[in-house]
Amino acid sequence: MSADSSQTILEVDGLKVYFPIISGLMRKVRGQVRAVDGVSFDLRVGETLALVGESGCGKTTTGRAILQAVQPTGGRITFMTREGDRVSTISAARDVQSIIRQEIQLIFQDPFASLNPRMTIFDIVADPLMANRLSRGRELEERVTEMLRLVGLSPDYMRRYPHAFSGGQRQRIGIARALIMNPRLLIADEPVSALDVSVQSQILNLMQDLQEQLDLTYLFISHDLSVVQYISHRVAVMYVGKIVEIAPTDDIFSAPKHPYTQALLSSVPIPDPEVRTRGGALEGEVADPANPPSGCYFHPRCPMAEEICRETEPPFAEVSPGHFSRCHFYADLDLPGVPE
Ligand code: SF4
Repeated sequence: MSADSSQTILEVDGLKVYFPIISGLMRKVRGQVRAVDGVSFDLRVGETLALVGESGCGKTTTGRAILQAVQPTGGRITFMTREGDRVSTISAARDVQSIIRQEIQLIFQDPFASLNPRMTIFDIVADPLMANRLSRGRELEERVTEMLRLVGLSPDYMRRYPHAFSGGQRQRIGIARALIMNPRLLIADEPVSALDVSVQSQILNLMQDLQEQLDLTYLFISHDLSVVQYISHRVAVMYVGKIVEIAPTDDIFSAPKHPYTQALLSSVPIPDPEVRTRGGALEGEVADPANPPSGCYFHPRCPMAEEICRETEPPFAEVSPGHFSRCHFYADLDLPGVPE
């Protein structure tokens, strides 16, 4: 796999998504849940960037904001269209919005829940084109046939219903549905977490093949670091709405520069049956995004926390080219990674 570093397809700059906490008879706003709190990154054409973190860290909300499924509270999201125009996904005119909706598509998490059991495979895959009145008749059938072949399914089964297919086949159907709009950027939200391990690698291989064939870019949202290590070029680690570390995948896995990243890595299975654990597992609860701790949000769980961590928020500092960490002690950390 190789990413074209010369072309950026997406820029996320200072993205904030806050949800109001409303309570009482008068339905007053009592506070804010800071689901995404100043997230910035870019994505290059042909790249896979993984967004990782525990449940509730803001990774899915970040993906939903890019897909225009939630309204950001602040920040900018800029998308480069196929025509080469730089457009804001937040404030674009209606005609531009429809272009963005074609060029950015979603691969759902759960292939069992995301396919309507009352629709045939043909109707499911054709739905985005039909809903946008972009194709019909023979042309539509040919396009569905092409998409099913692309994801390794026989078009002979297009009149069947989802229950006739296995989990892996259903996820292939979901990918075919996402591809039929000819997108350039795919947001894949835990695309293999509901599948058996043996099937996971088949779907990941398919995604890699499609990426090369169609020049696709992926934002790959996952809590599973072993999957992320396999498929991504870069990894961004999120904690309580913020990116705490971002780096090329090899750097994250061989030399993490944030104690939270290292704690997540400690949960990656070790391929040696003699060794059961790497140690350094996460303790304590994730901080409340409605009432985060002072200073570094990770300090109540961090084994390396010192006084400054409780008082001062760490800057997002560059460790080495392309490797950034939000830890006061990034320069001195010598944390164990994951052996190849
Ligand atoms: Fe831990 Fe302090 Fe670094 Fe935060 S800034 S990760 S509390 S050492």
